[in-house]
Amino acid sequence: SRKLLQKFLVSTVVLIWSLTVMMIYNCCGQLNLVDGKMQYLFDENGRRYLDAFGGIATVCCGHCHPEVMDAIVNQTKRLQHSTVLYLNNAIADFAEALASKLPGDLKVVFFTNSGTEANELAMMIAHLYTGCHDIISLRNGNHGNAAATLGATAQCNYKFNVIQTGVHHVLNPDQYRGVFGSDGIIYARDVENLIAYGTCGRVAGFIAEAIQGVGGILELAPGYLPAVYGSIRKAGGLCIADEVQSGFALSGSHFWGFEAHGVVPDIVTMAKGIGNGIPIGAVITTPKIAKVLTHRTYFITFGGNPVCTAGGLAVLNVLEKEKLQQNAYSVGSYLKERLTVLKEKHESNSSETLSVTFMADSGSIDFVIGDVRGRGLMLGVELVTDRELKTPATVETLHIMDQLKELGVLIGKGGFHGNVFRITPPLCFTKEDADFLVGAMDFTMSKM
Ligand code: PMP
Repeated sequence: SRKLLQKFLVSTVVLIWSLTVMMIYNCCGQLNLVDGKMQYLFDENGRRYLDAFGGIATVCCGHCHPEVMDAIVNQTKRLQHSTVLYLNNAIADFAEALASKLPGDLKVVFFTNSGTEANELAMMIAHLYTGCHDIISLRNGNHGNAAATLGATAQCNYKFNVIQTGVHHVLNPDQYRGVFGSDGIIYARDVENLIAYGTCGRVAGFIAEAIQGVGGILELAPGYLPAVYGSIRKAGGLCIADEVQSGFALSGSHFWGFEAHGVVPDIVTMAKGIGNGIPIGAVITTPKIAKVLTHRTYFITFGGNPVCTAGGLAVLNVLEKEKLQQNAYSVGSYLKERLTVLKEKHESNSSETLSVTFMADSGSIDFVIGDVRGRGLMLGVELVTDRELKTPATVETLHIMDQLKELGVLIGKGGFHGNVFRITPPLCFTKEDADFLVGAMDFTMSKM
């Protein structure tokens, strides 16, 4: 009976853990994925899935890309060590290659193990450099899950009840649901007002994603970032671009998300796809700002270790060699076009309500695609029950995701209400994959 009790306790812990992970990653059902090859994943039974989400989560070049794997394996065979103690070429080579991708004076690279660590460090640098405490972030933003980053994150479903000081969440320049539509300049006034009325007039900094990922693939309204960067700098603060999701060529038109807004940040953070699945993040800033870290000893034992940086450098080489940014642009534009047609199709499909009818246990619910948005291979499809009121079709979104999985297609889910499909495949995604994905979505929605 002791063994039984032990078994029961273990399975309870596993269940709670799995549920937590499922909630965190907004994934439905559980797949035990055991193999990966480029844009495909395979479960324990050998069933193949088209991965239309992995580009953001872990992989940008494709699962187990042979060149990235070779680089990691070769470096592992040669030397794996802490970054702190000695020099190693792999670290310097990746730092140099990364810095060459950034504009202006953004040339000093600190490596971390994750996006959370990168944003924590970026905000700490902003505090140290300015001597100020206040950080401004956007509502609906997501920046990580340690003390400062949890504070900057502004979605209650991602926040724990912990003390949060010196952080202000301003209006999100959300072009779909925001009260000022696509007028970025008006949203930016909220930041100016906040500095005037909610701080001493000086701030440490501002952190934002150019395209909110977890928040539901929301591109900030045009004109917003230049205006806000102006206000922040006037108040002595630093502008931090969180490129953990929107960076590394995913948006197709640009390598970094902020570039589409014509701004140059003071600090850029990145992680996730940059290591194609291995844990690495980075903070890049100017030599002048970076100097604040020389006042004390700062290190992260494995931040930018030789194995992860060798992998990171291989990722950059593959991106270049296989022209993956261009692919993100062309396949992404094609996919967005097809999704827009799908939006129109399902609008006119149903004669009475101009929507798709979902037979739920509680009766029938109508839903439509309310919005198709994003850039390159970072696309969002928002489902609503009503185009006018934009009522989130949360249950239906989850149901469709589940059905897609049955058809062998994996996509992500996000947005505050969990009603936005996040389509962020590895950058090797093809037009044929795009056709298959849209076909599967169309089939599922029509069936419902
Ligand atoms: N920034 C953004 C934009 C993110 O989406 C996330 C992860 N949700 C993070 C930072 C934190 O990254 P990590 O999970 O690697 O700590």
